[in-house]
Amino acid sequence: MALALLTTLPFVLLNLVALAVSWRLEHHPLPAEATCQTAARRPGDLRRRLPLVAVNLLLVSGGTFVGTWLLSPHLSTGWPGWGAWVGQFLLLLVVDDLVFYGVHRLLHEHRGLYRLLHARHHEAYAPLPVEILYTHPAETSLVSLGIVAGAALVHLVFGGLAFGAFLSYVIFRHLHELDVHSGMRSRLAHAIPLLAPNEHHDHHHHRPHEGNYASMLTLWDRVFGTHVEDRRRPRQAPRGGLGVPVSPLPVVPAPLAARAQRLVQPAGAR
Ligand SMILES: [Zn+2]
Repeated sequence: MALALLTTLPFVLLNLVALAVSWRLEHHPLPAEATCQTAARRPGDLRRRLPLVAVNLLLVSGGTFVGTWLLSPHLSTGWPGWGAWVGQFLLLLVVDDLVFYGVHRLLHEHRGLYRLLHARHHEAYAPLPVEILYTHPAETSLVSLGIVAGAALVHLVFGGLAFGAFLSYVIFRHLHELDVHSGMRSRLAHAIPLLAPNEHHDHHHHRPHEGNYASMLTLWDRVFGTHVEDRRRPRQAPRGGLGVPVSPLPVVPAPLAARAQRLVQPAGAR
């Protein structure tokens, strides 16, 4: 029960913060140089979408709680060592993202399934973070199969699943999902090999059937030939370094954001 609560509470909290950030972004859009989105949002879209967002928040929070509770006999709370921790995290990532890629691509290539399930999510042409929950509830349940498959494989390979690896993966996955739906330009993600930057998924919302079906890794789109470069021209050229808001900096008070910017900016660029 405690492990299920420890997993579900951060998840709920992150979504409530995402709701507040989304509300702010809808009423105070990012400056052109800070966003990869080239289309303006329709006023009131977020308010109209909130009922479905709320349904999915309840569904996913409940699913996370029950899923972790069912999984808890197989979760170990001891420290597994760095090697096992990193190995389990990466295996969860690879399996979950591969399943997501397959399900997501199927939802696009089967037009009946697209119209029935996935078209709803793509009403968010220029999405906001909390619109990761603007999906058909059946789709929400379907894409969660990836983490179940990942947990099963980790258990098979490592003989158990460390709760620390599981929890950190769940939080990382959710933060990345919120980030790629924020419309903010990525800077740090471009420096991490294979990690999908925001432009990757935002281009998918811009032209849904062209490709970029993976969520966290660009690997699957490259291997299966569905990778599309984001060639949209910014409405205004971005300034160098981290001179523009970079997620999650926009949700951080300005003095802290400026300090974080100085920390990650190359010394020569200051
Ligand atoms: Zn899609």
